[in-house]
Order: sequence, then C-alpha cells, then structure tokens
Amino acid sequence: MRDELVALAKLAEMDLAAWEFDSELKELPERIDGMRDDAQVLENLLAGERQQLEAAEALLSERRSELELRKSALTKARAKGAQSRNFKQVDAAEREVEATRRAIKEREDEIASLELTIEGKTESLAERERQLGEAKEMLATEQAAAEVRLAELRKQRDKVLAGRDEVKDRISVRTMKRYERQRSIKGKGVVVIEDGTCCNCRMSLPAQLYIEVQKGEESIDCPQCRILLLYRGVVEV
Ligand SMILES: [Zn+2]
Repeated sequence: MRDELVALAKLAEMDLAAWEFDSELKELPERIDGMRDDAQVLENLLAGERQQLEAAEALLSERRSELELRKSALTKARAKGAQSRNFKQVDAAEREVEATRRAIKEREDEIASLELTIEGKTESLAERERQLGEAKEMLATEQAAAEVRLAELRKQRDKVLAGRDEVKDRISVRTMKRYERQRSIKGKGVVVIEDGTCCNCRMSLPAQLYIEVQKGEESIDCPQCRILLLYRGVVEV
C-alpha cells in the first residue's frame, strides 16, 4: 500500500508538471484560431465592399449610357423644334426639349453622386485591404512562432511524463479511477499534506482520519472535497 501511495505522489507530481504545458498547448492553438477568425471576418467585409463597388460601377456605366441616349434625344428634339411649322408644334417641341433637359440634369446629378460613392468605397476598400494584409502577415508570423513553441512544449511535456506508465502500473485500477475523476474535476487528483489540514479545501481533518493518513496504510480521501490525501512523511522516504 505504501508503494502505491508513493507511486501516486510521483504520478501527481508528473501530471502537475505536464499540466503546466497542457494549458499552453491548449491556449496557443486557440489564440492562433482566434487570429485566423479575425482575418476571415476582414476578408468577408472586404468581399462585401468589393461587391458594393462593382454594383456601383455597373450602375454608373448604365447611367452614362442613358445620359448619352438623352443627349442624342435632345439633339433630335431641338431639330424637331427648328422644323416646326406652327405654334402647336413649336410648343410641343419646346416641352420635349425641356423634359429631356430635365432628364439629362437628373442623370448628371446621379452620375456625380455615384462617382462620389465609388471614390469613397475605393478608399475604404484600399484601407480594408491594407488591414487584411497586416492581419495575414501577423497571423503567418504568429503561426510560425507557435509551431516552434508547440513542438518545444510537446517535447518538454513528454520529458516530464516519461515513465508515467511504469508509475501507473504500481497503482491499483480502483485508486487510479478515483485519482483521474478528481483530476478531471479539480485539475489535480491528490494533495500531499503536512499537517491536519486538506490543502485543497482547507478543511481541518478529524483527528482519527489524520492519524490514518499518517499511517499510510490505505488511500483516504478528504471527507469534504473527496481529493485523495497523502502524508508527506509517507510519500517522501
Ligand atoms: Zn479537502
């Protein structure tokens, strides 16, 4: 039993050392994923802006063709006016010239406003492209650094966990189950105590229980938090 408790303390020490690497091994790829998501959001915004710009440019070219048509219509209306033979024809021709002029003015105003919109959109598009370029560059740099760091972390983690299986073999299946269950909840499966207090939940242990823990003849959990209790004098021999 004592050997099992010693092995348990050793296992807990290994797992704690590995846990420090585990958190970084988990957080680092998450951070890179977050950066990739941010770059994707920018990419989507950019695609939206490009579409808007294309739509505005298509509309502008349509309006310009319409303007040309109106202009030739104006020339025709004026020619008609010049050929008018009576007051009624003159009046009709003048009204047609006036209506066409108004239509031309409307088209010209619309074209000017479209040109302004396109100018603005082109500028914001350039700004977004610059931001995206920066984000992608940063992502590539961080990703390369993260890969190096992750390889190093994995190496260090493997190092602290070397021989874990041999240590585990010295612990009963039942105790391992209790240990792993507590570890999955609390991040650690055992605590090594030096006095009558559980260092996980700070509970002051009942005197008889503390004596049992000190004897090191069986694995005992804290009555309050259920973590396995090891006595330093038992596991450090
Ligand atoms: Zn406790």
